[in-house]
Amino acid sequence: MWIYLNNRFVKDEEAVISVFDHGFLYGDGVYETLRSYGPRIFMRDQHLSRLFRSAEAIGLTIPIPLKEWADILHEAMARNDIGTDRRDAYLRITVSRGTGDIGLDPSLCPSPTVVMMAKPLVPPASHLYETGASVIIASTKRNLPSALSPQIKAINFLNNILAKREAIAVGAFDSILLNWEEHLTECTISNLFFVTNGILRTPALECGLLDGITRGIVIQLAGELQIPVEEGHYPADQLRRADECFLTNTTMEIMPVTRVGHTPVGGGKPGRITQRLREQFIAARERFFEPAGST
Ligand code: PLP
Repeated sequence: MWIYLNNRFVKDEEAVISVFDHGFLYGDGVYETLRSYGPRIFMRDQHLSRLFRSAEAIGLTIPIPLKEWADILHEAMARNDIGTDRRDAYLRITVSRGTGDIGLDPSLCPSPTVVMMAKPLVPPASHLYETGASVIIASTKRNLPSALSPQIKAINFLNNILAKREAIAVGAFDSILLNWEEHLTECTISNLFFVTNGILRTPALECGLLDGITRGIVIQLAGELQIPVEEGHYPADQLRRADECFLTNTTMEIMPVTRVGHTPVGGGKPGRITQRLREQFIAARERFFEPAGST
């Protein structure tokens, strides 16, 4: 496997970083996950912009200019023989504060560490799209946005990992995290939607959740299908009474949810609006690539 490390591609055995890297010591850094469909990267420029926004929010200057990233991503796919017509790619860019003496002061680290990996995308098991996934409501609360903005895709993922551990412990697909007011936010790596009385609802950004790129597309597609959308503040009870529920993210797209804790959602089957949005998402995908050949 070829990995991009700092300013060049190296084999994975050479892709090593220092134990003094502040990403390792303090979780000080940002990342972004992208995917391709065959050779074409989905919402590439939006993901790259979000990476740069995350970095800016923590005062980290990414040493590789934004305009060079498209070429790096495409080269990583080519070198690893993925992103071909048959193999979709999972792409991850990580930028940490870099190597420096122990201490929190970012100025201890003269240059950030940049890592980019490309590997074959492994989507969730296909049967889950037919049966729907089961989720729980975690007892771990989502980070308070005034303590750590959810718009920063930070490499410190402990909040989400603790919630994921709760899901794993009971054999659930994932956990939904509530916020400080016991309102719904999102899952550990995805945004949350549900339907009641024909209205598609999703927690508002101010509840403390990542402004997911797939979330934005789903809201747009719902508008095009004339499905009313509401972004709001919802207690967990509203979800238990929902007719449909689903999760969204870049790698799993739209994943139906048919169970929340012990409660079946929508009779335990993926709902009609969920299915319509999934179909529309697949049909509309073409619109969300950069023009062919653009880097
Ligand atoms: N929420 C969290 C906490 C995430 O980590 C992610 C994806 O990484 C998402 C939501 C979904 O975001 P996107 O649709 O941009 O992949």
